[in-house]
Amino acid sequence: MKEHPGAAGPRKNQFASDNYAGICPQAWQAMAEANQGYANAYGDDPWTARACDLLREFFETDCQVFFVFNGTAANSLGLAALCHSYHSVICHESSHVETDECGAAEFFSNGTKILLVSGADGKVDLNAVEHCVRRRSDIHYPKPKVLSITQATELGTVYSLEELRAVGDQARRLGLRLHMDGARFANALAALGVRPADLSWRAGVDVLTLGGTKNGMAVGEAVIFFNREPADEFDYRCKQAGQLASKMRFLAAPWIGLLESGAYVRNAAHANRCAALLEKQLRQTPGVAITHPRQANAVFVSMPPLLIEQLKQRGWHFYTFIGSGHARFMCSWRTTDADIAALAADLRDLGHPHGASAP
Ligand SMILES: *Cc1c(COP(=O)(O)O)cnc(C)c1O
Repeated sequence: MKEHPGAAGPRKNQFASDNYAGICPQAWQAMAEANQGYANAYGDDPWTARACDLLREFFETDCQVFFVFNGTAANSLGLAALCHSYHSVICHESSHVETDECGAAEFFSNGTKILLVSGADGKVDLNAVEHCVRRRSDIHYPKPKVLSITQATELGTVYSLEELRAVGDQARRLGLRLHMDGARFANALAALGVRPADLSWRAGVDVLTLGGTKNGMAVGEAVIFFNREPADEFDYRCKQAGQLASKMRFLAAPWIGLLESGAYVRNAAHANRCAALLEKQLRQTPGVAITHPRQANAVFVSMPPLLIEQLKQRGWHFYTFIGSGHARFMCSWRTTDADIAALAADLRDLGHPHGASAP
């Protein structure tokens, strides 16, 4: 049977990012089911109500839920709700909020300053966080108000439950509210096999950006307020920022599809498993070294620049960090064993010391 060129398609799967993948069947079907007749606009519809209830069940608590179009909006609006313009937000130097959101957090909070800390493998160093807070207490310093962490991190690692509790304790001790960028929360959940509540509010998270897009939806992230007080008037904030969907049912419905079917965690578990397989292949390739522990759906490696070049010549897309000989391979709900086998074959072919063209 011929493959339909548009759909699963002849175009090979890629390892650049989990948002290269399309829409998973459960999300697609839920969108189709919501596409019946008329419904009230702006979130006053049964799908939005149902999706919010399912998220409350998922987290086992009466949280406030908002649906926005993307992660940049979810993070920056969520952070803006947690602080005033004269406050500061502490986050890791490699965080998406700092490096990939074009200053949106500062913009939507009217100038709240981002303070950066370092830390191994993309996780904040808690001593550095303390230093950031305690080094000044005068009126001239932007008052630290929020700690923002990413789970799973930008470097493909996962805060263990113990580590996360330590983060929560530290935030509480320092009087900081805790925000979590959970663009890949599901991958962390699948990796640890714990309850969503344990990985969020029970560890002290006030506001969670919960990822949908990278885990199989077309579009959309949820902003979850476990602490309901800063959620007050958040609907106005979303509207002003252009993040209130008028046909909200289509942002909400995929959550129903993914949560009711269990695909939300299953998709992430699949992506993690694929990354583990890929890690095995990469480890066997001469000159390639794993640079951060592979704990979710990404493998970070250093590899000879020539090998990077040759893989790209063969049509593989993956993120490289220019000039540094580092690369990131990301798996998604859509990655298949065959995709990994194809990449592995090229790695084997190219990866010996003399490259593929050697005699
Ligand atoms: C992808 C991603 C986001 C969301 O990015 P958008 O492109 O704005 O949807 C947020 N945080 C992290 C860590 C991400 O990887």
